[in-house]
Amino acid sequence: MIRSSASEMASALAQGEITSLALTQLHLDRIASVDKDVHAFLHIDTEGALAQASAVDAKRAKGEKLSPLAGVPLALKDVLAQKGVPTTCGSKILEGWRPPYDSTVVAKLKKNDIVILGKTNMDEFAMGSSTENSAYGPTHNPWDLSRIPGGSGGGSAASLAAFEAPLAIGTDTGGSIRQPAAVTGTVGVKPTYGGVSRYGLVAFSSSLDQAGPCARTVLDTALLYEAIAGHDAKDATSINAPVPQVVAAAKSGDVKGMKIGVVKELNGDGYQPGVRARFEESLELLAKAGAEIVEVSCPNFEYALAAYYLIAPSECSSNLARFDAMRYGLRVGDVNGASAEEVMNLTREVGFGREVKRRIILGTYALSSGYYDAYYGSAQKVRTLITQDFTAAFTKADVLVSPTCPTTAFKIGEKSNDPLAMYLNDIATIPVNMAGIGGMSLPSGLADEDGLPVGFQIMSPVMKDERMYSVGAALEAALLSKWGAPILSKVPALGGRA
Ligand code: GLN
Repeated sequence: MIRSSASEMASALAQGEITSLALTQLHLDRIASVDKDVHAFLHIDTEGALAQASAVDAKRAKGEKLSPLAGVPLALKDVLAQKGVPTTCGSKILEGWRPPYDSTVVAKLKKNDIVILGKTNMDEFAMGSSTENSAYGPTHNPWDLSRIPGGSGGGSAASLAAFEAPLAIGTDTGGSIRQPAAVTGTVGVKPTYGGVSRYGLVAFSSSLDQAGPCARTVLDTALLYEAIAGHDAKDATSINAPVPQVVAAAKSGDVKGMKIGVVKELNGDGYQPGVRARFEESLELLAKAGAEIVEVSCPNFEYALAAYYLIAPSECSSNLARFDAMRYGLRVGDVNGASAEEVMNLTREVGFGREVKRRIILGTYALSSGYYDAYYGSAQKVRTLITQDFTAAFTKADVLVSPTCPTTAFKIGEKSNDPLAMYLNDIATIPVNMAGIGGMSLPSGLADEDGLPVGFQIMSPVMKDERMYSVGAALEAALLSKWGAPILSKVPALGGRA
C-alpha cells in the first residue's frame, strides 16, 4: 500500500479497504525503518498524526462527506508554522520554537483531513540546493544515499521517493520544490505566486516565496494544490480570483493542438548529456500526443541568476532581522550584565549557519545607501525584463518547457565549498520565480550515464496553472507506456519494509 499513489490510497480509504489509522501507522513504521538512513524528517508527530487519522476515520464512519484526500498522510516542510509542533526552518536559531498558530496551508490541510506526519528537513531558511545547509545534518537521496536529494526542500522530496509519505508540501523561492523533485524522481509544483497563501510560511524572500504540492504523480499534486490554494485575506499578496481547475486538467491530460515552447536559453551545452537525451525524448512523446513543439527565445534569462542573488539576499537580510534572540527560539549569552545587543549578536553568531550569514551580509550590502540603485535597483529592472521575455514567449506557446536542472543528483560534499557551483543548479528554475508564473517538474526517466532521475520542467502563465497539469499528465502517461512502470518503481528498496 505505501507504494501506491495518494489517489489510490484515497480510494482505498473511501472503499473501506483500509482505515486512515492503519494507513498512517504503515507510514510511521516505514519512517521508523528507513529514516535513519534517509533523514527526511526533523520531527515526527506520531501522536498528532494518529489523532488526526482517528478523527477522520470517525467522520467517515458517520457517513460525513469528506474531501478527496481525507485520511491520506503528508510530510510538511519545516518552514511552515504548525500550532504546537516544532518549526525550525532547519536552523539552530529556531530550535525549541513551537508556533502558537497554524499557517494557512496547515489550516487548509487540517480542514481537508490530510494527516500531517511531521516536519521535513531543509536547507536553513530555505537557502540552498542540496539540504546540506540544514543545521541538523543532510538528507540523503533514496536513489543513492551518498547523493544529495536537492534543496532546499530535500526532506519533502526524499520522503516521497523513500515511500515515507505519498504527499508533501514544499516551498519554492528559486527552485526548492522543482529541483528536489527532479533529482529524486518525484513531481513538484511551484504554483503561480499568490496562488497559495504565504501566511505562516517563514519568510526568506517574500516577493519570490511560494508554497506548493509535491507527490509521486501529477494528479496527486493537482489534488493537493486544490486543497491548499485560494485567496486568503491574511496574505496581502494572495490573488483574489477563482482557483485554477488543475484536477480536471490532470485527469484529462489532453495536449492536442497545444503549443509547447522550448526555451532555447535553457537547453544548452551546460546540461548533462543524459538530461538532454531524456528532454528530447519527452518532446517527441508530447509531439506524438498531439502537441506542436516550437522554439522560443528568452534572451534576458542570462541575467536571471545574478539578479536573483541580489533580490533574494536583500529580502532575506530584511526578513531575518526578526530573529533577535528576544521573541523566538534560541537565546545565547543572556547572563547578568549582558546588553540586549550583546545577546543578539552572540545568538546570531551561534544560531545562523554560514550560508545564511553570507546572504545576510550580501543583502545588507546590496541595500546599503549609495549601492541600492546599482545593485537592488538594477536587479529589479532585470526582473521586469525577464517577465517581458515570458510575456512575449507566451504569445507563441501555451506552455514553455526545459530540463528542470542541468545535472542529476550530485554527491554530498561535492559542491559545499563552492557557493557559485551550488547556485548554478537553479539556472533553469529561477526565471519562473522572478516572473511569478507557475512551474512544474516531473520525472522524464533516468540518465543513461548514471541511472539517476531526470526532471522535465513545464512553465505556465500567471493563473493558468491548469496548462502545466495537462501537459504533465500527458507526458506522464506517455512515459508510463514507454518505461512500462512508474520511474520511481526503480528506486532502491532501502532494506525497509515496502
Ligand atoms: N537554491 C536557491 C537558493 O539557494 C533556491 C532556494 C529556494 O527555492 N528556497 O536560494
